[in-house]
Amino acid sequence: MNFAVIIVAGGVGKRFGSKEPKQFLLLNKKKMFEWSIIAFKKVKTCKQIILVVPEYKLKEIQKYKKIYEIDIVSGGKERYNSVQNGLKYVKNNIDIVAIHDAARPLITENIINEVLKSAIKYDCAISASMARDTIKFSKNGKNILKSIDRNNIWQAQTPQMFKTKILKKVYSKKISENITDDAQLVERLGKKVMLVDGGYENFKVTQPVDFMLAKYILKNRDSAE
Ligand code: C5P
Repeated sequence: MNFAVIIVAGGVGKRFGSKEPKQFLLLNKKKMFEWSIIAFKKVKTCKQIILVVPEYKLKEIQKYKKIYEIDIVSGGKERYNSVQNGLKYVKNNIDIVAIHDAARPLITENIINEVLKSAIKYDCAISASMARDTIKFSKNGKNILKSIDRNNIWQAQTPQMFKTKILKKVYSKKISENITDDAQLVERLGKKVMLVDGGYENFKVTQPVDFMLAKYILKNRDSAE
């Protein structure tokens, strides 16, 4: 079964604190978003890569279209707007659509293949990691209301992969709240979404400390090859 990936790089990264959105910063001689493209290009059944960037970046990023043979389209205000726009460009013969955050540059060919295997078998699958810390629930951010058994808590990552028909269906409806991943929409349909353990290296670069860690890991991977 073949698949397409929509790599969302359309955010402006307010939490990171740099002028340039984090996914366009240089991370070991490549822009952060390039690492995701490189990982997906290693998977033979990946037949289309769609990179979603903020509209004002379209011109500047065009050169990567030729370098990696990808499609580059503009994003929207929220992440789901960017996914929605990327979906419009998925080719007709694609069986499965993967969505991946450009802010997860440590994605590996192995994780992609594991999630893909599960999506082929069960229609919907995401990479995720088990919570490591004890989890507390609070409504005001000041005091704990209860503790939650961490054995039941998984933190969603990307890639998230879905049979094309299912993903197009959930994204064709009006989305009225700010959803932060794609699985949420599919869960609401009552569809089972499978968890694939993506481990702890596939983290999202959110803070400068994550950037430093990603740099270190990529450097070590480079020298291990
Ligand atoms: O903001 P956050 O780090 O959760 O974003 C996750 C991913 O979604 C990032 O790769 C970001 O560039 C992308 N995104 C997007 N369009 C937006 C907001 C975020 O493509 N409007």
